[in-house]
Amino acid sequence: MARRTPRPARPQAPKDCPCGLPAPYAECCGRYHAGQAAPTAEALMRSRFSAFAVQDEPYLLRTWHPDHRPAAVDFDPGMRWTRLEILDTKDGSAFHTAGEVAFRAHYTEGGGEGSLHERSRFVRYEGAWVYLDAVFTE
Ligand SMILES: [Zn+2]
Repeated sequence: MARRTPRPARPQAPKDCPCGLPAPYAECCGRYHAGQAAPTAEALMRSRFSAFAVQDEPYLLRTWHPDHRPAAVDFDPGMRWTRLEILDTKDGSAFHTAGEVAFRAHYTEGGGEGSLHERSRFVRYEGAWVYLDAVFTE
């Protein structure tokens, strides 16, 4: 009997959500990009990372607190956001009006790899979670 050939590793389907949760994009951050409200600060953080990955500028702008919102998002064409690690969360649940999420966001740029470490602050604005600012970034 012939030995079974091992199945090749499943290729990364493009529909997988960039935020790293094991779910198709459309059922994960794609829902929020399509207009559904993110229920927690972490969900908003993940969806904003995914929005950077898929370059959804309107979503990034409307989930940015108006006091800090830039006029436009400059996507660096040579940079690709590849992976998100949530390191810590504080408050930011359905029962809070503010929250913090510490994360490391990985990217590739010009053949090299890098990462951004940040603790972001989120608040509810007109009922919906928005990104306020970064407490620290390195
Ligand atoms: Zn996602």
